[in-house]
Amino acid sequence: MPRNRAALALAATLLATPLAAQTSSLTPHQRLAREVYSELISINTVDSVGSVTRAAEAMAKRFRAAGFPDSDVKILTPPGKPTKGNLIVRYRGRAGTNSPKPILLLAHLDVVAALRTDWPRDLFTLAEEGGFFLGRGTADDKAMASIFVANLLRYKQEGWRPQRDIILALTADEESGDANGPEWLVKEHRDLIDAAYALNEGGGGSLAGSGNDVHPLFHTVQAAEKVYVDFTLTATNPGGHSSVPRPDNAIYELSDALGRLARFSFPVTLNPTTRGFFEQTAKVEQPAVAAAMRAIVANPNDAAAAATLSRDARFASMLRTTCVATRLAGGHAYNALPQSASANVNCRMVPTSSLEETRSTLARVIADTGIAITYTQKQLPRFPASTLPIDPAVLSATTELTRTMWGDIPVIPTMSTGATDSHWLREVGIPSYGISGLFSLPGETNAHGRDEKMRVKSYYDGLEFLDQLVRRLAGGVQP
Ligand SMILES: [Zn+2]
Repeated sequence: MPRNRAALALAATLLATPLAAQTSSLTPHQRLAREVYSELISINTVDSVGSVTRAAEAMAKRFRAAGFPDSDVKILTPPGKPTKGNLIVRYRGRAGTNSPKPILLLAHLDVVAALRTDWPRDLFTLAEEGGFFLGRGTADDKAMASIFVANLLRYKQEGWRPQRDIILALTADEESGDANGPEWLVKEHRDLIDAAYALNEGGGGSLAGSGNDVHPLFHTVQAAEKVYVDFTLTATNPGGHSSVPRPDNAIYELSDALGRLARFSFPVTLNPTTRGFFEQTAKVEQPAVAAAMRAIVANPNDAAAAATLSRDARFASMLRTTCVATRLAGGHAYNALPQSASANVNCRMVPTSSLEETRSTLARVIADTGIAITYTQKQLPRFPASTLPIDPAVLSATTELTRTMWGDIPVIPTMSTGATDSHWLREVGIPSYGISGLFSLPGETNAHGRDEKMRVKSYYDGLEFLDQLVRRLAGGVQP
């Protein structure tokens, strides 16, 4: 069948047709999701100038109109931060007091700032062009936010009641700002968001190919994150006149220490998520890399396997804690010996490590007691309460649905080397999984960047996937 030709013809039609025609072929549920998506994009939720509260209120209005009782639709705003409101909606299950703990659906409403002059279009208008949705937040994170909203509205409208409660939390300040929603909610309103586990951003599907000729390659479930901490290394010296150098010198002392750090690798430390990552990724990798992945899972001390994998910076960071120099300062005058030299060392610790372990390893590697090692920030990170394997029910439902929708592709557990809001929940013992069913080519969405985008097909597939997944996990029966 000339599937590609039909797809091209369809793409050409979509390019040329106005909005009304683009939406006329949608199912009523797709149309609702698109409407919610469009409304969310149209509300400026940039930390500095926008209002997350406005977006939360717009969504709350939809839930109340759909018949959710006022007591189950709450906007919670941290004191003194009127634009940082979080929406919590509870859809009550039928099981009552014996029911399993709720499922939490988490998405952030805030977006990264951008300059209108950098963009070829209005940032805050949902555009549809060439098979893509465009606008700030189309990928990060208003696709998932709108999908969760539309699906919850649909369950209610259909009269589908889950076994357990489903909680939706649409939150503030994931990207930046001083009022992170999940951080504040776990502290002040834990009861409202307490759940068996959460589904959040951080996972998704990877496509291969180019243009319209793409196919799904794998689907990831983010189940762990590295932990961020900065150290300041400081070398000090009495200094003096630079015309009469002395053998000890703060800049040289610090440079030598950084040189030792540069040549050091932390030991390979895997956890259930990264073991799963390498096992599953081996299925789609080149033979040499795949063999190294299998070898490292069998024996984390396999130095040859670690060396092969470490040639790829992403795998290198997945294998171990990393610490890297990111800033440097030293000296106070051109003609004086430096009295101090300092560097910031940014560490991304594996979640099974600790601050003390990382700090003492740094001290050992630097091997210079004259260099002070201090924490750069006052507020120190906390570690997840545990690094458990992915809940088997979540993994099997995700795997089955992935097969049904995208064929026989691997579902790959991942550990983010960066961070999402999931860490706030994991720290207090609520497992959190990045699962979205949203597929893209690597780098394609350009989240945080110019002309952020989401494939139209990916969006509607994600809508369907998350609808089905939540129905399965929440264990209800169809009306
Ligand atoms: Zn995000």
